[in-house]
Amino acid sequence: VNPHGGLSRPGDLIPLADARRAVLDGIGPLPAQCLPLEQALGCVTAERIVATSDIPAFTNSAMDGYAVRAADTTDAPARLQVTGTILAGDAPSRRVGQYEAQRIMTGACLPAGADAVVPVEQTRPLGEVVEVLVATQPQRYVRPAGSDIGCGEELLAAGTPLTPSWIGALASAGVESVAVRPRPRVGVLSTGDELVGAGAALVPGRIRDANRPALLALLRQGHFDPVDLGQVGDDESAIADSLVEGAVRCDAVLTSGGVSVGDVDLVKVVLHKLCGVSMRWMQVAIKPAKPFVFGRLTPNDVPVFGLAGNPVSAVVGFELFARPALRAMAGHGRLDRPIVRARAVAGLEREPDGKVHLMRVVVQNPLGRWEARSSGAQGSHVSLGLARANGLALVPDGHGIPAGGEVDVIVLDDEGVEGRDTTLDDMLGVLP
Ligand code: AMP
Ligand code: MG
Repeated sequence: VNPHGGLSRPGDLIPLADARRAVLDGIGPLPAQCLPLEQALGCVTAERIVATSDIPAFTNSAMDGYAVRAADTTDAPARLQVTGTILAGDAPSRRVGQYEAQRIMTGACLPAGADAVVPVEQTRPLGEVVEVLVATQPQRYVRPAGSDIGCGEELLAAGTPLTPSWIGALASAGVESVAVRPRPRVGVLSTGDELVGAGAALVPGRIRDANRPALLALLRQGHFDPVDLGQVGDDESAIADSLVEGAVRCDAVLTSGGVSVGDVDLVKVVLHKLCGVSMRWMQVAIKPAKPFVFGRLTPNDVPVFGLAGNPVSAVVGFELFARPALRAMAGHGRLDRPIVRARAVAGLEREPDGKVHLMRVVVQNPLGRWEARSSGAQGSHVSLGLARANGLALVPDGHGIPAGGEVDVIVLDDEGVEGRDTTLDDMLGVLP
């Protein structure tokens, strides 16, 4: 039996940059779709949005206090006649005349005649009269109409990922739906006879499925739309059925396991049959995640990422190949997580083997300088070492990084991390 199912023996090691190019070159954004604002979190805008009115639409008060004519307060303390109260939501009907004031609440429309607001803390009530204790100037504590954004100005550029704050800003501008790149729907399939079903007893020799929950969670974290395709045994027709189902239901499919050189590594065999010439079985010059398959499933050319089976390899393969491709489909300009240059607190040792090692590390930036240390054992089956890590150190071929040496780290826990200007591919181009 040829375990490679018609595929030749695994070829030479391919540099990571070349493998990424083989994946990313043919990937572009999904066609734009109009989504209701409340469904658009994390999506990337497909067109620029222009404000169709001033925000705020009317000049209003920035404080709870009194709407006054600034000129009436020049000789403070000044006594002004209080002629009314304006609450947020009211449309004021009465002008503020000379030596008059109106009580006004934050966000309430500034009445005609008034040009400033005196905060309540700077006043003293005297029945129908208010004493303004401090002189004010025109426009003090006043929010002019259009001071957030003016009618006709660009609210949002095309290509902007929608954060919660953008959702709020768009809502305040009266935008109810937005043209965005839709979230790619991504199927996740686990393969292997050794996997027991969820909740089933663990009999000797078998293991629980770690990859599918982790990959589904990574997809959710990345604002993609995960589709659970379940698990299948090492059986060609079962794998093929699930892949075809994935190609019908999804914009992309992730599999784990079955892409190495074992006797039942059949995912690569099935993908070879289903994807034809678009399929590439690669031995990438990295550790972990060396074996990797990329192809396109007919009839819709759905990209499929055949990730290696070991739990750390599956996640590292996802980070290096699938996530950037899915981000390109989702319309993102920046495809990779941020990379920081860190000082190795202790040595990050390895043996020379012609590969870049992606070592699991904890990176921290306590005093404005990034520091990295190993998160534990570096075996590709050590899922705790990955779980404890928040970064992948790019350790070039050789004997590793000595204590105190510098290393580039992909920050996995990347919320709010800016990172270097250089892209991962630029960096790979100059690795020794
Ligand atoms: P394979 O390439 O299919 O031989 O898988 C490599 C290693 O990863 C083997 O030890 C598998 O048992 C393990 N593995 C494969 N799939 C999973 C999974 N979904 N969860 C945990 N371990 C897995
Ligand atoms: Mg397997």
